[in-house]
Amino acid sequence: VTIDRDLEPGQDDAPARVSVVVVAAGDGRRLGVGRRKAFVPLAGRPLVAHALDRLARVPEITETILVVHADDEAAARALDPGARLGIVCGGATRGESVLRGVRATDPAASIVLVHDAARPHVEPFRVSGLIRDIRARGPALLVHPADGTVKHCGQEGRIEATLDRNGIRLASTPQGAARGLLLQALEAAAARGLEPTDEAQALEGIGQRPWCVPDDPRNFKITTREDLMMMEQLLRPALPRIGHGYDLHRFVPGDGVRLGGVQIPAPVRLLGHSDADALLHALIDALLGAAGLPDIGEHFPDTDPRWKGADSSVLLERVLRELADRGLAPWQVDSTLIAEQPRLGPHKEAIRASLARLLRISADRVGVKARTGEGLDAIGRGEALAVHAVALVLPASPLAESSPC
Ligand code: MG
Repeated sequence: VTIDRDLEPGQDDAPARVSVVVVAAGDGRRLGVGRRKAFVPLAGRPLVAHALDRLARVPEITETILVVHADDEAAARALDPGARLGIVCGGATRGESVLRGVRATDPAASIVLVHDAARPHVEPFRVSGLIRDIRARGPALLVHPADGTVKHCGQEGRIEATLDRNGIRLASTPQGAARGLLLQALEAAAARGLEPTDEAQALEGIGQRPWCVPDDPRNFKITTREDLMMMEQLLRPALPRIGHGYDLHRFVPGDGVRLGGVQIPAPVRLLGHSDADALLHALIDALLGAAGLPDIGEHFPDTDPRWKGADSSVLLERVLRELADRGLAPWQVDSTLIAEQPRLGPHKEAIRASLARLLRISADRVGVKARTGEGLDAIGRGEALAVHAVALVLPASPLAESSPC
């Protein structure tokens, strides 16, 4: 029996080689999907690929050993085109698989971690912290607190005792120790025919008392279909979508300009089939673009008498409903108006407030800027007004902040 001597507490300035063993050989029977859990699709990839990717972002880790069932060896190699993983075939039990994996690690590794592939949401910074703890203090594992009241339930389904939850921790992974110590613990358990359910238990079996390090609640273990569905939600983030819009309308003599639903007094008006609200038109195109929908011209053709003289805020409302049908909602917009006349500066705040109301977002997420054409081209000669707009659209979430309007 050897005790690792190069990892005494306090020697945390020594260069550490750190290996991680990812255990992916379990059959996942409780998942009931007819294949081993590690290769079940999750957010478009095999489940095990998520943990491997995250562990690859832990700078301290110098080696990764993946333990898979013999039937999954080819699938495991397909995950690793760069052949950076050590791939090891697992045994009949989890304990045997872990032991094979730890034995296959670099003998020069000072620390070996063991991670369960069924925990895909492992956070790299927490693993770095765990490694620091192991180097400084000895064996350690990530744990979750017990949030509810903890009951000990008897075989017949009745409570036998209420435990003090303050002392309760649910073991997570990674767990780790100095390589020699971990091997010693696992081999001692195997020699005694024990099946420790985690590495900490094997270490406890040789008199160690591993340290508990808080884990992220998202690093839960996938056991059931419901777990898989919850993880799918976490790993497929709702990405924002962006759209751009542009509009230009010619001035003709008239009694005012409508922009963003606000009537601005002027000796001109904008010429158009609808109310010619170029700002709303540019925003509508930005929203449609963000949603991947056809542009305003296809939605509201100027050959259609329904849109003759139409209030553009009604068109915007229809577009917002179309977005909502696709589970999308505007989050933020920005715009630039370019015109020599009328002076827009005094009206910017009123336009912002109007857009915020029409879009049902708060005014601090609405941008309205005005500038001139510097006397150049048709805009500069005061013949037309142009608008550029962008919109950021998010998948509508029940967690999104409620509308201020
Ligand atoms: Mg237009």
